[in-house]
Amino acid sequence: MRSKIVAGNWKMNKTLAETEALLTELSAKLPDTQAEVMVAPTYINLTAAVRHLASSSIEVIAQNMHFAESGAYTGEISADMLLSVGIDTAIIGHSERRAYFGETDEILAKKVVTALEKNMRVMFCFGEELEDRKSGNHFSVVESQLKNALFSLDASSWSKIILAYEPVWAIGTGETASPEQAQEMHAFIRKTITEAYDTGIANKVSILYGGSVKPANAVEIFSKPDVDGGLIGGAALVADDFVAIIKAI
Ligand code: PEP
Repeated sequence: MRSKIVAGNWKMNKTLAETEALLTELSAKLPDTQAEVMVAPTYINLTAAVRHLASSSIEVIAQNMHFAESGAYTGEISADMLLSVGIDTAIIGHSERRAYFGETDEILAKKVVTALEKNMRVMFCFGEELEDRKSGNHFSVVESQLKNALFSLDASSWSKIILAYEPVWAIGTGETASPEQAQEMHAFIRKTITEAYDTGIANKVSILYGGSVKPANAVEIFSKPDVDGGLIGGAALVADDFVAIIKAI
């Protein structure tokens, strides 16, 4: 059985007071669920979030991390720093990191290796741009993103990997991939992993969909057999919306 996961990426939103207020509201309204529920506040509020959720099943994860162990990387955060405040899962490869901060497949591959060496879990994000989809290249783009960053890993590492397919054209745009488009790509991703490894690994890895998931479309997207949950941006900033999406899973 694959884990069902609903994760909220808060991006560069919420002050400390706002973070605590949202976590209080989320904890109070959290429905009974078999799914893993995760939130990714900004770095500066991770410690407070971990403390705030000490007796909650909601897990706090990081939005990013650096590949180096330590050193002269001004403004960056290491795996050990995350672990030291109780964070053992990091989002790696979000399209905003790729687009605005120059994170290439090569850099992301290094980050993944470092996280795994530290025994952390990786939520690896990838997905095609609008032009790729329009030109029919979306499958090959996704395949190369996976290959370049993940397919050198040994098979045992895959128990620590969560995938988040996020078509860039659907992130923060209000435009969502249709449930059929999401299912088609998730099935393709599983087939690609089967070819690179085996069906055991492909069938075990959770593949989340991300891109304008809202309470109104979550049930239909999550009903698809290869969609194991969602990575949620905008709707994760509003407790009632995030809770409705958790209920949808
Ligand atoms: C995201 O940034 O990962 C995301 C899916 O954002 P949104 O839900 O706002 O499209």
